[in-house]
Amino acid sequence: MRNVLFVVFRYSGSMSRVLIFDVDGTLTLSGQKADPLFVEFLMSFWAAENCYLVTGSNMAKLQGQLPAKLLNLAKGVFTCSGNEFVSGERTHFVMNHSFPDELIQYCKQLIDLSPFCWRTGNHIDHRSGMLNVSVAGRNADRLDRQRYVDFDKVAHEREYLTESIMRVFPDYEATLGGQISIDIAPKGWNKGRVYSEIRQRHPNAEMIFFGDRMDAGGNDLPLAEKLMSDGQTAHHVNGFNETWKILRDDLGFGSQFRAVG
Ligand SMILES: [Mg+2]
Repeated sequence: MRNVLFVVFRYSGSMSRVLIFDVDGTLTLSGQKADPLFVEFLMSFWAAENCYLVTGSNMAKLQGQLPAKLLNLAKGVFTCSGNEFVSGERTHFVMNHSFPDELIQYCKQLIDLSPFCWRTGNHIDHRSGMLNVSVAGRNADRLDRQRYVDFDKVAHEREYLTESIMRVFPDYEATLGGQISIDIAPKGWNKGRVYSEIRQRHPNAEMIFFGDRMDAGGNDLPLAEKLMSDGQTAHHVNGFNETWKILRDDLGFGSQFRAVG
């Protein structure tokens, strides 16, 4: 009987579920620390499920947004849009790319030409395999960020920047990430590559992805498309409260917690 139970357990384990989360705008407000009550909710199932994080941020920024317990208990953490992969103490890979000076100079020109006048410095952030470019600058505080968000809503500047960069440098792709920046990477170096890494580790699992940028040009779209073409689920959420509601109402996690809003 014990053997039978063991076999059943193993079988259900191999058919298990994988939960994949973007971070900015999906588990946290953009660029901010996660809501403590939401973290408590996530912790109620985090270790028992196969949870992966896939963010455009680097590890240092991610550590400022999510507590160590959430990062350590994730099955895997992909940072820099999937160019770095860490699980627990182990770094599985770091992909680097040397971006041409012409591309960096072109980004600087675009930043200089922007009519947005609240500049905070640190406009081009070199991360593994990608560049993060922000007209407002990475030093933007909450007010600076909001100024740029309001500006971009009207001007659609980031869409213009991504289109312009891809037109001039067709070997590169530029996507909207977060709220105030764009990501640039060699073509194909995007979150979509995470799909095969996770699939290899969980060959038969159901995969469910949560992301806030699955619209055209969004940095979650490549992964959402790969998952959906494999018959898997991608939830396009509008903020962490929606992620919370889906996890609670559709997947039945942590019914003792109440989603806000
Ligand atoms: Mg996001």
